[in-house]
Amino acid sequence: MELKEKMDRMVEELNAANYRYYVLDDPTMDDRDYDLKLRELEELEKDHPELARADSPTKRVGGEALSKFEKVTHPVPLNSLQDVFSMEELSDFVDRMLAADPNTVFSVEPKIDGLSVALEYENGQFVRGATRGDGDVGEDVTENLRTIHTIPMVLDNAPERLIVRGEVFMPKTSFRRLNRTQEEQGKPLFANPRNAAAGSLRQLDPKIAAKRGLDIYVFNVQLAEGKLFTTHGESLDFLKSLGFPTIPHKLLSKPNEISVEVTRIDAEREKLTCDIDGAVIKVNDLAQRERLGDTAKYPRWAVAYKYPPEIKETVVEDIVVQVGRTGVLTPKAVVSPVYLAGTTVTNATLHNQDFISQRDIRIGDTVKIRKAGEIIPEILEVVLSKRPENAVPYFLPDKCPICGAKTERDEDGAFLRCTGAECPAQLSRNIAHFVSRDAMDIDGLGSAIVDALIEKGYLKSPADIYYLTPEEVGSLWQKGDTAAKKLLAAIQDSKSRDVSRLIYALGIRQVGVKTGKVLATAFGSLDALEQASVEALTEVPDVGEVTAGFIADWFAQPQSRHLLERLRQAGVNFQSLRQVGDQRFAGVTFVLTGALSRFTREEATEQIENLGGKVSGSVSKKTKFVVVGENAGSKERKARELGIQILTEDEFLDMIRE
Ligand code: AMP
Repeated sequence: MELKEKMDRMVEELNAANYRYYVLDDPTMDDRDYDLKLRELEELEKDHPELARADSPTKRVGGEALSKFEKVTHPVPLNSLQDVFSMEELSDFVDRMLAADPNTVFSVEPKIDGLSVALEYENGQFVRGATRGDGDVGEDVTENLRTIHTIPMVLDNAPERLIVRGEVFMPKTSFRRLNRTQEEQGKPLFANPRNAAAGSLRQLDPKIAAKRGLDIYVFNVQLAEGKLFTTHGESLDFLKSLGFPTIPHKLLSKPNEISVEVTRIDAEREKLTCDIDGAVIKVNDLAQRERLGDTAKYPRWAVAYKYPPEIKETVVEDIVVQVGRTGVLTPKAVVSPVYLAGTTVTNATLHNQDFISQRDIRIGDTVKIRKAGEIIPEILEVVLSKRPENAVPYFLPDKCPICGAKTERDEDGAFLRCTGAECPAQLSRNIAHFVSRDAMDIDGLGSAIVDALIEKGYLKSPADIYYLTPEEVGSLWQKGDTAAKKLLAAIQDSKSRDVSRLIYALGIRQVGVKTGKVLATAFGSLDALEQASVEALTEVPDVGEVTAGFIADWFAQPQSRHLLERLRQAGVNFQSLRQVGDQRFAGVTFVLTGALSRFTREEATEQIENLGGKVSGSVSKKTKFVVVGENAGSKERKARELGIQILTEDEFLDMIRE
């Protein structure tokens, strides 16, 4: 079979599997088969970019990042809807429509709480997708939309030009997963799925959007060249036949049926995969819509019924503080159980000190609580009239509730963090950092092994790694003699690493790999660094006052000193191994590309840096040399274009040896 034909067939097969999986929720292809095939296609496309199709499923993982979003003018504006807030207002609308035409049929749909987008297809190909913006002009988010698996990239038998409108949302499961990751990474949480969806769709890097698990419901044909529909329902059926995930809708004509359906949607919203904030009631007949027309802002033929958010009163019984894996202290209110929007709520997030202070939430207070984005219960306000006399303002502790170390405000001031180098809450993460490749680089100490060692009680601090006995390590494997020996050797090996790695491994705030190196060069040893004053630290290039403060604070902590002492006793190297003598590459920037045969990238980088040079990831006018290994690609090309000197690995070796 010809390659092109093979690749086309793969695209079609994967797209079909994708549709079954994401839109119909009825997978036909095994996950692993899908992944393997996708990878094979990816490889083929890499080798033959000219044969890669625009609708290839590989495009869904996110392409190049953008520097900004282009503006898009919507050929058909994305209108807003008139809101109604009560059943009376809703029945006024229904009565008005029926008075004008007693045969009116209504489409009743959930109002998805996400972001409106327009998807544009030309000759059946997805060509552009844009946010609503102000309704007339939005932003081009095509690349991010491509990552949404339920949006078809090609359509069979579609009109020459088709624009559909839909609502992008973040399913509740994706939202929970995202916030869990945010928390693990010490990043702020998203308040609700809508914010998270908006933030994700407006990512300049589609790879980030691709990871966020967004989804869509389409609910309108904006434009379909050469195609005539008589009703909205018919147009939705058409969209469905093209493979779009269409909004669930019921066609009803009696006022009481409509209110029952609106109430049913509200009652069942917990069961939906996404958040909704109301129901939309639309006239189904398109000619009738035409006759009714629009006001300046809204169509006259539809209204959005907004469900009141359920708010209840409860009592704050206690405020507890949790310490996350990154050391962030998160206060939580323990409240008397209340039934709210489908679940029994027993606690509410308090985010941080500012949140508590702004609302002046105290233990014993009666508070109004609601579910933000229907998931995380949140305290809206205190009912002051019910405040007990002895209630006192609440402040987060200045010591970590887990390990007793000092707590400290985050860089942006919003969060408090525990600074304990041996804090049990952060242990697994601290150790993972300590052993990571750029830090002590201990091969074989993956997170599962670390967690097992913590579980068994063998690791209570990163320093304990160097005190593990052969029996303790051996206990991890049933027949693990070789594995255990290898791990112990790797641990032993890591003792002699350059101190720059140790400095980075300690996990001092704002001290990354680069700062670790700069500090090692400037002070020569960990002991000298420990003794350094804030002034001396600030004199080091790249170290500002804030970082200097973090470093000094870190060394002042009893837990840090304990950690250092045990590392020293274990024989971990505290000295800089760099020969600062020869700095012949000072001010010279290298770029490494392709596979080097005699070094790893890290080793080559280390050599260059030892001689005072810098290594950059991309070729620019500032690059002096590009070292090319096997299969070098675009960087070599770019270097040639810019007339930058290219070195083979041998030439590079000679240069170092000189
Ligand atoms: P509003 O933003 O309050 O004016 O409400 C109108 C918005 O509701 C539209 O911009 C759509 O993004 C959104 N929406 C969600 N679901 C639907 C639906 N089924 N039909 C129409 N609009 C919807």
